[in-house]
Amino acid sequence: MKILVTGGAGFIGSHLTELLLHEGHTVTVIDNLVTGRSENLQHLKGHPNLEFIIDTVLNEERMRHLVPHHDIVMHLAAAVGVRWIIENPLLSIETNIRATEVVLEAAETNGTKVLLASTSEVYGKNEKVPLTEDDDSIIGATQITRWLYANTKATDEFLALAYYRDRKLPVVIVRYFNTVGPRQTGRYGMVVPRFVRQALNGEPLTVYGNGEQARCFTDVRDAVRATAELAMKPEAVGEVFNIGNPREISIRALAELIIRMTGSRSTIRYVPYSEAYPAGFEDMRRRVPGVEKLRQLLGWAPRIPLEENLARIIDAMRTEVMNG
Ligand code: UDP
Repeated sequence: MKILVTGGAGFIGSHLTELLLHEGHTVTVIDNLVTGRSENLQHLKGHPNLEFIIDTVLNEERMRHLVPHHDIVMHLAAAVGVRWIIENPLLSIETNIRATEVVLEAAETNGTKVLLASTSEVYGKNEKVPLTEDDDSIIGATQITRWLYANTKATDEFLALAYYRDRKLPVVIVRYFNTVGPRQTGRYGMVVPRFVRQALNGEPLTVYGNGEQARCFTDVRDAVRATAELAMKPEAVGEVFNIGNPREISIRALAELIIRMTGSRSTIRYVPYSEAYPAGFEDMRRRVPGVEKLRQLLGWAPRIPLEENLARIIDAMRTEVMNG
């Protein structure tokens, strides 16, 4: 198939592109390289079935021409990372809402299928365990910029579902839960690359709060496998799916595990939330994906344990740290 991956030079996008090419598809990547990096696709450079366009999805003219030439658009281009969003609120709204509209409008021309990448952030403060796809979004006040992420991605979901219902456009929505793997950068606040880098540099690992908050980390290879399968599955159309590994670990235990696995002398530094984030920031205590829907439709289950994922991330980052 001919597949357009927006945000294909990003962390998840680059792993997805790699998988799709491996499966024999032809892939066009469009990425403006704001948070994506062309090095993420370096190893695929010159691949006969890959075209890489450096541009923004907000370029409507380009998207109107590009999208109808593809069988599926996998729309991963978005402002991601709580830290980046807090620092760039206006650009985040534009990137997350307008860009999705552009994709859906362009897809409507030929009825091109759209897979929309969303996030577990849309559940907001809902700490039900596990979270299933029809659980409530419990989102905080508009004065707290963190909630902009959840709100804009929820709006994207409403938009996609409206195009499905009103215009019969085939759409599939996936909600990623804390996805990790090589090529993820710690620059935008993500905990695993930050901890691994700190451990490799012998610096203290910055655990926010008391570290008892917990997350479920999914190997990016498990996540992109589910994504690609859902995109091909007719029964997934019009539906929302969680993608995540339900195994939970506290942030303190994660820090200890990374120190052990890297053989680092680093200690743990507990950083109060008031120092780590702007005033009024609210951190989720737990966030566990319910993946029964995915299991029922695809027989999907996560295959790669956290330790194996961390080992690969540590290896990749060790090489990077050594090369400066
Ligand atoms: N976190 C931390 N130290 C860091 C970065 C993050 O303790 O240097 C915590 C953060 O407060 C949250 C968890 O790690 O409880 C996961 O954060 P991340 O930003 O990776 O993802 P989130 O689940 O918040 O979207």
